[in-house]
Amino acid sequence: MALGKVYLVGAGPGDPELMTLKAKRLLGIADVVLFDRLLDPTMLDGVKAELIDVGKNAGRHKLTQEGINQLLIEKAETGAVVLRLKGGDPYLFGRGGEEALALQEKGIPFEVVPGVTSSIAAPELAGIPVTHRGVASSLIIVTGHEEPGKETPLDWKAIAALGGTLVVLMGVSRLEKNVEALIAAGKSPRTPAAMVEKGGWSEQRMISATLADIAEKAREAKIESPAILVVGEVVRLAEKLGKKKIAILRPAAQQKESAALAESYGFSPILAPAITLAEKPLPEDLQERLCKAECVAFTSANGVKIALQSQAIRKALTEKTIVAIGPKTAMALAEQGLPSQVPEEYSSAGMEKMLKGKCRSILFLRSAQGSRYLSEALKAAGLFVDDIALYEVAPSHDPRLDELIKIARGVQIFAFTSSSTARFLVERAREMGLEMQLRDALAAGTVAVIGKPTAAELARLGLNVDVMPDKFTFEAMLATLKGEEEIK
Ligand code: SAH
Repeated sequence: MALGKVYLVGAGPGDPELMTLKAKRLLGIADVVLFDRLLDPTMLDGVKAELIDVGKNAGRHKLTQEGINQLLIEKAETGAVVLRLKGGDPYLFGRGGEEALALQEKGIPFEVVPGVTSSIAAPELAGIPVTHRGVASSLIIVTGHEEPGKETPLDWKAIAALGGTLVVLMGVSRLEKNVEALIAAGKSPRTPAAMVEKGGWSEQRMISATLADIAEKAREAKIESPAILVVGEVVRLAEKLGKKKIAILRPAAQQKESAALAESYGFSPILAPAITLAEKPLPEDLQERLCKAECVAFTSANGVKIALQSQAIRKALTEKTIVAIGPKTAMALAEQGLPSQVPEEYSSAGMEKMLKGKCRSILFLRSAQGSRYLSEALKAAGLFVDDIALYEVAPSHDPRLDELIKIARGVQIFAFTSSSTARFLVERAREMGLEMQLRDALAAGTVAVIGKPTAAELARLGLNVDVMPDKFTFEAMLATLKGEEEIK
């Protein structure tokens, strides 16, 4: 039987979109695919070949290198087109060279297909260019996991003396030893250093420190393999070039617009709806209650949309003073041809100030769970306050929220746009058995709230708030977050 052919293919750092066109095409024609554990399984979606996981997990080799070589040979000898899919680039610490030699020895045709290497892509995706004009004009890539006696030992003195950028692959388990060796060899302990974990994956994380502190910080943050150590002045560029991930927890219908806004402020949005809105039937005494109120208040654009489906409300509104809690709500009303007043400060105090002398009774048309903070404060100020719940906020049951909870440690900013987004996020994490991890992630990251009622809910949940804008809108929240970053 004719011999098959083996393709030694680089799959890139993990994001399936970072595979080459050639890798993708070969996946379509392969009879057998041998792949590593670290690859994103979606890369193999729709692939019809026989799939063999030869995954190696540090320390727990499933198949020895010898076994993999043997399997490649056996499969090729059946006449199959064999694709050996490897992380990053096959010839950089990937043992691709050994596989190629083994094939050559048996006279089996093979071809190597380069891939995007994690040694450059992982720092890059975290905002670190490995070389930069005036900062670093050389790059050295080494393994951090030397097997004593098996490889030529690293010359740390030469590496320390080189300047430029140092990238250490397989750097987690011996991080502390390697850092000590570098410092002992003369590298300044103050040199900036970073660990990039799972570059290009949804869980990507980066921590940065000085060379002296990086091992301790990585231990605290529980950085795991695969991760890369980057040492050199280029690490500082991440402050400018690295994008912070922001979790957007709003209902699905608002995700797209919010994500675009977050991107325009330089953040990398993670779409994770925590809540969904379910309409409630209107009360039978709606008419009466509308009559009694001089003033009708809306606290969200969603409330406006739902309320105006009712002709009775639409008609009544033409005779009332309409109050909108903020500009977005006012805009939703304006789109329906209804003018409204917006308090200078989007809070009960602002509302009270605005209504003083103009209105004695106010009807809130809003969500069932919305905070009663506003209405209580207005009641205390002597107004007659009524409330009609138009919709209920319910948990989203969206898989994207579960995904966020799993990767929360890699998210820098959590944007809470209502009390229910906070409540349901924590509740869902509890259901998944991940509440403590979520709380750790929230404590390590930046927690932003849109306004005071949301801040109060976070306090009730025992969570710290880092950022609240002066003006209570999502955009103002983004602007404040961005401003904080620039001050730093
Ligand atoms: N051939 C691969 C490297 C294989 S060695 C390449 O070119 O990328 C395996 C090491 O690569 C891991 O221990 C880790 O240091 C690094 N690595 C691989 N994928 C990574 C990723 N997505 N993020 C960070 N490091 C990664």
